[in-house]
Amino acid sequence: MIRNYRDLTRLEMEQVDKENTIILIPVGALEQHGNQAPLGTDDIIAEAMVEYLGRALEEAGEKDFPILAFPVIPVGLSTEHRNFCGSVTLRPDTYYHLLYDISVSLAHHGFKKLAFLVCHGGNAPIVQVLSRELRSELGISPFILSSGAFGHPDVRATVSEGNIYDFHGGEMETSMVMAVDPSLVKLETAEAGIPTAFVGNQTLKTGGSVTIGWVSEDWKTADGKPIGIGGDPSGATAEKGRIILETSAKVLVPGLREIRDWKA
Ligand SMILES: [Zn+2]
Repeated sequence: MIRNYRDLTRLEMEQVDKENTIILIPVGALEQHGNQAPLGTDDIIAEAMVEYLGRALEEAGEKDFPILAFPVIPVGLSTEHRNFCGSVTLRPDTYYHLLYDISVSLAHHGFKKLAFLVCHGGNAPIVQVLSRELRSELGISPFILSSGAFGHPDVRATVSEGNIYDFHGGEMETSMVMAVDPSLVKLETAEAGIPTAFVGNQTLKTGGSVTIGWVSEDWKTADGKPIGIGGDPSGATAEKGRIILETSAKVLVPGLREIRDWKA
């Protein structure tokens, strides 16, 4: 189990080894995840990842691993989803400064190792810029962890055949939410999304050497209705979600060990 930063008293915090303890900061989002999955999907996954990471560390024999989990940052940079009902976004500069101020406070208390656990892809560019600035300005070591091992063969194996566009709000993310609480997912309302705006393009895609600042309306249903998700969530199950969360947590353990051993 990873201890929560917020659960410590001031006196307990005074005893923490600031030099070596990693502060794990999960950065989530509050944004649409299709018809079927909750707005807080990324936050729910972020909380679950902290729990699964704790178990993965214990299973790897790391019972007293020097790590504290910061509260999930519940809102992030979700500009691309803003036109779908319920999505909430910070502006890039607000988000940068929110994370910057938190980091400065932690550094002020002597913490040297911050590990941002990125649970929403849209947050990643800000976290990357921030981590370089923090390292340069404060002399601390900011690390970046990706929360989902979506390319791992065990994770790929959970995705239904033919579901080739699975991504935001798709089968994998929906499964992870179901692993936490199946009642939060309304699978009967699920509709698949494909990147119709880019289909047929050789070069201009949502990722690669030529790209565009995409919006989630670029992802549409087969009959052309903007749906804002990638892939087909209809095959999602709690068991698949458990496999994805477990695999993703296990994949991070070697990296966390190297962060622990990192000397600035
Ligand atoms: Zn998500």
